[in-house]
Amino acid sequence: MELHERLSAKMTKFRPSLTLALKRLAEQRVRDGLPVFDFGLGETKGQLDPEIREAGERAFREEDTMYTDPAGLPDLRRAVLKWLNLEAHYTIDNVIISSGAKQSLFNTFLAICNPADCVLFDHAPWVSYQPLAVASYAFPVQVLPLVRKDDGMKVAPEDLKRNLLMRPHARLFLLNNPVNPTAQLYTPEEVEALLKICVEHRIYFVYDRLYWRLLFDGRAFANPRIDEETRPWVIQVDGLSKNFRRAGGLRIGWCIAPDDVAKAMVNVQSHYTSGPATPTQRTALAAISRPYTGGLRDELQAKRDLLLREAQDMPLTRIWPTPATFYSFWDVRACLGKKTPAGKLLQTSDDVSEYLCLDAGVITASGTGFMQDGYLRLSFATPDADIVKGMAAARKALGALK
Ligand code: PLP
Repeated sequence: MELHERLSAKMTKFRPSLTLALKRLAEQRVRDGLPVFDFGLGETKGQLDPEIREAGERAFREEDTMYTDPAGLPDLRRAVLKWLNLEAHYTIDNVIISSGAKQSLFNTFLAICNPADCVLFDHAPWVSYQPLAVASYAFPVQVLPLVRKDDGMKVAPEDLKRNLLMRPHARLFLLNNPVNPTAQLYTPEEVEALLKICVEHRIYFVYDRLYWRLLFDGRAFANPRIDEETRPWVIQVDGLSKNFRRAGGLRIGWCIAPDDVAKAMVNVQSHYTSGPATPTQRTALAAISRPYTGGLRDELQAKRDLLLREAQDMPLTRIWPTPATFYSFWDVRACLGKKTPAGKLLQTSDDVSEYLCLDAGVITASGTGFMQDGYLRLSFATPDADIVKGMAAARKALGALK
């Protein structure tokens, strides 16, 4: 039987994960006793906060392991409103706790998209947006500028307007701020301009704010305007995975949505996961009920500065500024067309990423996963010693290209 007969047609649209392939290559290097500098992973290391861990341990000790409300623990939903400073605008009926921010995004697409509805993403959409949209039978479209500027990839209001004119079936515009992978940060004015267009066109403004606490140099996050006009159209997605140390595997995210959409999301979630595990909901409650200290942010800011120092004048590379997140975004288009010392022609950023891995042990995420060939994403949430040695190894490898 042919592949397309045994699997659904949409499966052919899912690209196998390149990070996984690189992980295998890196493991092989470790087995061979060669150094590996991991800038590939999108998560923070370090120690889980003892109070967060204790909350989970207590939940198990006290057998707090029965089903919760499918929308999540009421106390946690209340804490989310406080965490996001949204108590004046919503009640806990507008908050849905999910298994990671991913499930909140999936719930969003399932709740509001009809088959073939178009969902608009920014220039460099995070790797899972497209598969999640496709799995919901929606049609993903990247909002591209008419003229590609060289100073960034932010979506401008005129780009969004033009795309909406061309796509009458658009249901939503999804904005990730700050952006994974580019680390760009939209200002309050830029967010307001995009939100205004969505409201005028009666499409949802889905705001993925997963890295919103990791803003450097005293920058402020752009909270979207919530009032009578915007409230029916704004959906916010957030979670535990990035703003806390070692918390990605706890699998807790949340979503704040208008009344009718929130009801639909709870309905659908009640049929496929019944909400996340109760003990990890307890860990999330412990995490966000306390004032946020900013220690992780300060540590990451110092790592960003270290990486920029060590990567200064990196051959054939232009490094973008990093106002937020823990990603350094590298323009390596000057490497394309060059040959490695072994004579391999580098044609895509997948090739550059593979070369850095095999030759220097430097693991990066290729831009192709984010629809941006010619770029690399490096996560600097990694030990300082690895940043120093990894940048030296990358410099040597890129300097050897001919
Ligand atoms: N949105 C963005 C921009 C992300 O980078 C990620 C994870 O890397 C997610 C959503 C999914 O987060 P979670 O691990 O909480 O499901």
